Amino acid sequence: MDFTVLTLFPELINSFFEHGMIQRGIDKKLITGNCVNVRDFSTDRHHKVDDKPYGGGSGMLMKPEPLKAAIEMAKEKSPCSKVVLMTPQGARFNQNKAFEMASRNKGLIFICGRYEGIDERVYTTMIDEEISIGDYVMTGGELASMVIIDSVARLIPGLLGCSESFKSDSFIDDRLEYAQYTRPEEFEGLKVPDVLLSGNHEKIRLWRKRSSLQRTFLKRPDLLEKGKLSDEEKQIVTRWCQELEDLVQ
Ligand code: SAM
Repeated sequence: MDFTVLTLFPELINSFFEHGMIQRGIDKKLITGNCVNVRDFSTDRHHKVDDKPYGGGSGMLMKPEPLKAAIEMAKEKSPCSKVVLMTPQGARFNQNKAFEMASRNKGLIFICGRYEGIDERVYTTMIDEEISIGDYVMTGGELASMVIIDSVARLIPGLLGCSESFKSDSFIDDRLEYAQYTRPEEFEGLKVPDVLLSGNHEKIRLWRKRSSLQRTFLKRPDLLEKGKLSDEEKQIVTRWCQELEDLVQ
């Protein structure tokens, strides 16, 4: 899958492509990471890429011509890719969207705005999708594009060491991931739950299911409102309620 980032700060993006699992994915040729400096497409002799907004107002806007030329070049290199604008005004990114993008496997070209954003005519003619990473405003779209690439790339088969590792991640089936422990068995007086040392796979599965449900209930109850509890989850909740009742008696 091709990831192309159009930016005025290529060092930020190149450094991201040169580290961790993303670099591994590129080395294994599971993904490509391409960074395009929009400034290289400015025909202005000072390589100007911004200008004042018509009608007045504070700040500058990214000019349309260099952006258009950069998008066209990126599309030429990766014709099936979707052009995605990073903007706080876009649809909110989440894990489902990451799955959708990874399964489409078509390639993504990210436009990272700077200043007060980009000229409206680029929005209306060249963008397939507008995405926001949350209801706050950052100084540029680079962090947003890295957030999206990172979460989409890790879902591409083979990129993570163990192909199963994202299947128990938080947000799968609207639940948070269960509590996890590693060595040592005891840390500052706190012990790893016995069941996890028991080797009994069914008991471990049930313990994890309960842990995941409890965490979702305590930390993100809104996720539970999205869908019904399974029969097994209902049993777990009933038992949990019983235990709480026993405690207060
Ligand atoms: N004036 C714009 C507005 O109010 O909608 C915000 C511009 S912001 C200062 C500069 C750039 O940062 C945007 O063009 C966008 O690319 C990026 N950006 C800022 N916040 C973002 C967010 N929450 N999600 C995605 N991109 C964001």
